[in-house]
Amino acid sequence: MVTARQCLSWFLIIVLLVTSLGTPASAGESLPDTDAEEVQRLYDEDIVTTFDDGTFRPDHHVTRAEAAVMLTRALEFSTENTWTSFSDVESDHYAAGHIHAVVDRGLMTGYQDDTFQPESPMLRGETAAALYRQFQFDGTDYVSFSDIEGHHYSSYITSLSGSGIIGEQPDSTYRPDESVTRLDFANMLARSLYSEYRVDKEDGTDEPEQPEPETEAIGYGEVVNSPTLNVRPDPSTDQEPIGSLAEGDEVEVLDRTGNWAEIRTDAYEGYVSQSYLIVDYYNHESSLYGKTIAVDPGHGGEDPGAEANGVVEKEVVLDVGLRLEEELRLAGANVIMTRRSDWFPSLEERVQEANQAGADIFVSIHTNAAAATEASGTETFYNETNSPGQSADLAGELQEKTVEKLNTVDRGIHDRNFYVVRETTMPSALAELAFKTNAEEAEYMKTDQFREDSSEALFEGIEAFFH
Ligand SMILES: [Zn+2]
Repeated sequence: MVTARQCLSWFLIIVLLVTSLGTPASAGESLPDTDAEEVQRLYDEDIVTTFDDGTFRPDHHVTRAEAAVMLTRALEFSTENTWTSFSDVESDHYAAGHIHAVVDRGLMTGYQDDTFQPESPMLRGETAAALYRQFQFDGTDYVSFSDIEGHHYSSYITSLSGSGIIGEQPDSTYRPDESVTRLDFANMLARSLYSEYRVDKEDGTDEPEQPEPETEAIGYGEVVNSPTLNVRPDPSTDQEPIGSLAEGDEVEVLDRTGNWAEIRTDAYEGYVSQSYLIVDYYNHESSLYGKTIAVDPGHGGEDPGAEANGVVEKEVVLDVGLRLEEELRLAGANVIMTRRSDWFPSLEERVQEANQAGADIFVSIHTNAAAATEASGTETFYNETNSPGQSADLAGELQEKTVEKLNTVDRGIHDRNFYVVRETTMPSALAELAFKTNAEEAEYMKTDQFREDSSEALFEGIEAFFH
C-alpha cells in the first residue's frame, strides 16, 4: 500500500528532479555558491542547471540519471529513443532517453541484474570511465594515486590524470568507489570538453581543441625532407613561428601563396614553406567532388562482429573504412564516418547520421562468416525499400570492383532486409568483402595489402556509381 506520505515524498522528489535538471539556464548569471569557471561555463551552455533556489550545490552528489543527462547535453546526443533494457528505467522515466543514449554509446553500463539504478549516486570511478570512453584520452604525465591499483577503472583514471582531466587529489587518493560531487563531475566534464581548463599543461601533451573547419581545403599535404617545419602566422619569415610540424605530419592545405602554403592541422592554422610539403590536390574533376558519402565500418566497441582465424571483424572494417575515407576526401568528397574509432554506434544512429546529413550514398563495410569454413568470396547486399534500382546499381558496382581487385569468388548481389540498407533513404549497400572463417581469406585480411585493395575497390565502385 502506498501512503499519502509516500506519495507526497515522491511528488517532492519528482519536483526536485524536474527543477534541478529542467530549469533553463540564464546565461551570464553567476552562480551564487561556486566560483569555478568550469561550472559557470557548463551552466552558461545549459549542460548543468541549478536547483530551484538558484544554487548549484557543488558538494551535492550526482545521481546516475543526472550524470546521463549532463553527458548527453554536453555531447549533444539524441535522446529521442527512450527504450532501455533495464527493469528500473521505464520509457516514461524522465531520463530514459538520456540513459538510452549513454548506454548505447558505451559510456555507462547497467548492472548484472538488468537494472541501471538511476537514483544511485554516480561514482568517481564511473565518471572517469564514462569520460574516457567518450574522449579516449591518452595522456602520459601521470599523477599517481595510491588507491587505484587493481581497480577495474584504474587505467581510465590514469589516462585522465595524464591528460589534465583529474588534478592533484587530497592524500594522493582518487577514491574511485566514492560518489562524485557535482563540482568534481562538472570540473572533469568541462576539462574534457574544453582544453583550456585542463590542469598541469606545461608538458604540452594536452590535446588541443579541434578547430571548426571554416575554409574549405583544396588539398592534403605531408611534411617531407625536413625533421621539422615551422608554421608561421603569415606567408613570410618576418614573424616568429607559431609552432612546428614534424616530418610525416599531415596537413590540410587551404591555399597557396607564392612559395607558401596556408595549412591547417588539429593544432595550427598558418603558413609553411611549400618546399617541404608534398601536396595531393583534391580532384575537382572527379565524379565524387562535392558528393557526401557515408561510410559505415560495421560493428565496433562491445560488438566485435565475428571473430575467426585471428581476424576480428570490427578491426579490419575500421581500417578499410579509414583508408576509404582518405581516398574519398582526396577526390573532394565530404565523408561522414559512422565511427572512426573502436566504439559501437547503434544501427539507428548510423542510419540517422547519414539521413540527417543528406548523404548521397551509404556504404557499410563488413567481412563475412560461415559455419562451413570452405565458404569464400565476396557478396554485396542492398534493399529496395528506398532508392530502388539505384541501391542495386551501387551494390553491383561495389561487387564488381571488389571481386576484380581482391580476386575473390563472385557470390553476387542480393536484396536483403538488413536494417542499415533498408532504413537509409539514399542509395545504400553493405559489402561483405571476404570470409574470415575461410583460412586463406583470413590470412589475406590480416595484411595491409587486403585493406588497401579493399578500400581501393570500394572507392572505384563508388566512383563508377557516380559516373
Ligand atoms: Zn558484420
